[in-house]
Amino acid sequence: MSSPIERVPKRLFIAGRWADAASGATMPVEDPATGQILCHVADAGPEDGRRAEEAAFAAQEEWARTAPRARSEILRRAYDIIISRTDELALLMTSEMGKPLAEARVEVAYAAEFFRWFSEEAVRIEGAYGTLPDGRNRMLLMRRPVGPCLLITPWNFPLAMGTRKIGPAIAAGCTMVLKPAPQTPLSTLALAAILQEAGLPDGVLNVVPTSGPGALVEPMLRGGRIRKLSFTGSTQVGRTLLAQCAGTVVRASLELGGNAPFIVFGDADLDVAVDGAMVAKMRNMGEACTAANRFFVHTSVADEFAARLAERMGSLVVGPGTEPGVDVGPLIDQAGRAKVADLVADAVERGAKVLVGGETPDGPGCFYPPTVLTGVDPGSRLLGTEIFGPVAAVLTFDDEDEVVRAANDTEWGLVAYVFTRDLSRALRVGERLEVGMVGLNTGLVSNPAAPFGGVKQSGLGREGGRVGIEEFLEYKYLAIPA
Ligand code: NAP
Repeated sequence: MSSPIERVPKRLFIAGRWADAASGATMPVEDPATGQILCHVADAGPEDGRRAEEAAFAAQEEWARTAPRARSEILRRAYDIIISRTDELALLMTSEMGKPLAEARVEVAYAAEFFRWFSEEAVRIEGAYGTLPDGRNRMLLMRRPVGPCLLITPWNFPLAMGTRKIGPAIAAGCTMVLKPAPQTPLSTLALAAILQEAGLPDGVLNVVPTSGPGALVEPMLRGGRIRKLSFTGSTQVGRTLLAQCAGTVVRASLELGGNAPFIVFGDADLDVAVDGAMVAKMRNMGEACTAANRFFVHTSVADEFAARLAERMGSLVVGPGTEPGVDVGPLIDQAGRAKVADLVADAVERGAKVLVGGETPDGPGCFYPPTVLTGVDPGSRLLGTEIFGPVAAVLTFDDEDEVVRAANDTEWGLVAYVFTRDLSRALRVGERLEVGMVGLNTGLVSNPAAPFGGVKQSGLGREGGRVGIEEFLEYKYLAIPA
């Protein structure tokens, strides 16, 4: 029997057809556990981008007229297919991205859930009808799809970051061009094949993997046909794209980086706090925008918390994600690993103590060990940037005002984690933290039924929840004389 990598189409998906790049170019997809090339996929250039945009534009009007129930059922069928192929999709994801198979299976379920959720939302798009206050006019208020969308996804959750955008776009009646991250195009191409199998009409979804995103994307954003950008990635790239959107006033949803504080008060249940830390830090090897980046622990429990965390982190098994029993796979590439190692070296030079980990291993693959640092100097670079790796930096604090100030002292505001047994403190601190999401005594906030997103430079808009579809809908009102 052929492998999932052999079965996935490795070409561009435009207007319902699988095609080579106009230039004939291809790009390699690597296994981060070995550094070996898994396969090559078509590498789209600007001409392919133009064809994909044209296909999305051509399909928009008819797609917007489709019955909501029909859109809903396509999503629901795709959900069923994804779930039925969990093992195959998980293996594909682990091969190109590195996360352990068990985590990949959890992502497949999480990703599929966005399709089920938005299949339920597709049939609940509502308008309004009423008399205006002056009594002379009536108002008919309707919701319309925003139009053709450009979706850009990162490599860290290759399937879920796609479904979180495709789901609401399909539900709302938008067509789209999707550019996946070049490290992980296979999961997205497999998803496109599943949506086609589920009955998605030609041209509604177009997928263009590329090694040259700037040259492909900028003409689309400046061309006037794309009406919406939905981007997940770094704040730096998000800023560039937002500036490009300004030219033709393209609506933008941006899910950007984070610098999550993880706060443990002196009265916290330390078992719960350490469990929460393991999830908030180690989910996806720390390569998550929601990853706890700065641990603030009350002085009275800091030593015990750090020792327990180091013990748990040190017991994790590091290795290729496809091997049984592995907890921590490789980081995405050599550049990602070098960044993590540099940040640890900088903290250690400034006086941090390494409780566990901290040494880059020899050998192939982009592995980095789970690491716990204490005594981290406030000037250390890892406190001011996303670590994006399995490194926990533990700082201490003495009072609530001090820790809230420190937690908010960042340009980002995606998520925070708070551990305490005092309900009024939990609510008070939860209100004061400048973030879009707070985990109270939990290290996991992501859920398709909840609005995911940040404030400050962590982004614009929300994905998931009841509001997720709003990002893909416009208001239109008809004034009618009474
Ligand atoms: P990235 O470097 O910003 O890339 C994200 C995507 O944008 C990739 O597909 C990338 O392609 C593309 N891109 C880069 N430059 C572009 C340009 N000029 N025009 C158009 N597209 C361009 O981020 P990443 O390293 O893949 O992902 C990690 C980041 O994503 C982290 O900052 C993380 O916090 C963030 N993230 C946020 C969320 C959230 O929901 N808030 C979720 C997951 C991840 P290339 O790789 O070819 O450059």
